[in-house]
Amino acid sequence: MPEKIQAVKGMNDGLPPETSRYAHIEARARRILEAFGYREIRTPIAEYTPLFSRGIGEGTDIVEKEMYTFSDRDGRQLTLRPEGTAPAVRAYVEHSIAHADPVTRWYYLGPMFRHERMQRGRYRQFHQIGAEVLGAAEATLDAEMIAMIDALLRDLEITDFTMAISSVGSAEDRPAFRAALVAFFEPKKDQLCPDCQRRLVQNPLRILDCKVEGCRAASVGAPSPLDHLGEKSRAALATVRSTLDRLGVPYEIDQRLVRGLDYYTGVVFEPRARGGSLGAQTALGGGGRYDGLVESLGGPATPAAGFAMGLERLALCLPGEPNRFATPIVAAFVTDGEDARRLALELSHPLRLAGASIEVDHRGASLKSQLKRADKLGAHWVVLLGTPEMTERRAKLKDMRTSEQTEIPFDELGKTLREKLGR
Ligand code: ATP
Ligand code: MG
Repeated sequence: MPEKIQAVKGMNDGLPPETSRYAHIEARARRILEAFGYREIRTPIAEYTPLFSRGIGEGTDIVEKEMYTFSDRDGRQLTLRPEGTAPAVRAYVEHSIAHADPVTRWYYLGPMFRHERMQRGRYRQFHQIGAEVLGAAEATLDAEMIAMIDALLRDLEITDFTMAISSVGSAEDRPAFRAALVAFFEPKKDQLCPDCQRRLVQNPLRILDCKVEGCRAASVGAPSPLDHLGEKSRAALATVRSTLDRLGVPYEIDQRLVRGLDYYTGVVFEPRARGGSLGAQTALGGGGRYDGLVESLGGPATPAAGFAMGLERLALCLPGEPNRFATPIVAAFVTDGEDARRLALELSHPLRLAGASIEVDHRGASLKSQLKRADKLGAHWVVLLGTPEMTERRAKLKDMRTSEQTEIPFDELGKTLREKLGR
């Protein structure tokens, strides 16, 4: 026997009915994003590596240890995209979108790849729903985006979450905060992991986001970026707060919120699940303002903001039984012999074209096992075309919910089914 080949570790198959939950989330997300003026982009799965190493930042977890990087047959270094913002900005710059459109709202849905240690809600291939606005600096936009995420979560009936908000400060605010962090961590240097000892020199902000226990302990009481915001950053955060208050969107200020990517330059946010369904992973998504990224990737200076949410984590929080969003089978044809099977196909065809989900059993199995299967599929109606029915040209129509059975002459069957199936 040949050895069975398994899926790549951390890259999962989506199977029904789980896929119907993903499809539901995606459909609702599209609806809401489109309502807020966003339009879909589809960027490639792989990019040249420097897009991410420069875009996301050399000192980040993603770039340091999570990227799937390989050289292709031409010897170029490619990376499977670990996130969607850098590719979106690359496309924005490459297609000179800024010339045609002063404000651009884009969203994307699709797989991302990170070589991570696997846990519940943490995989090596996962999916994100994300959006970017390029070309607007006003903080009311940040608030609008947060309100939209709040609306999406509530639309999905995910209500047990908090929206954590903070600001990491602008590029001008950074040096003072950086100095404060270095002064705080320098005496505790020995308690930090080797990565963070290096970060202390390269990028001390990253220490606050380190997941190593010792570093978390050493970070207690560390300065918050909120204490080092300049006038403009403070005003932006205040605008976000007052706008959200007016929209009735609840949030919590989290002093300690820093995001895992380098490019953020202002208000940042993170919707977090409160229930236990996500285990140790509580972040449903994350986002914020990144006013310097477009320029750093070779485009014109362009203020921007964006976010991404994890599809699998949303699905884990989605209430209801597993089949809730699966398309139900409304009718199953149970047939005896090839003539009956052909008649079943003929009758079901227009109904299927009208959108009814119908099962026709092709196995030639016994009527009993066909009926059992129809029941298991949850079919509301069973159309029985056995030998006596074929001879008398009258089908039996059974309502599986009431077990009530009626006989319908063949020439009325199409019409009756259309009525029963509500089309
Ligand atoms: P974390 O702190 O959980 O590692 P992150 O800061 O790396 O999160 P982002 O890069 O902001 O996460 O990604 C946004 C969202 O994408 C996360 O909040 C999460 O829902 C989802 N996500 C990120 N990495 C994974 C993963 N490995 N598996 C599943 N979902 C993920
Ligand atoms: Mg991460």
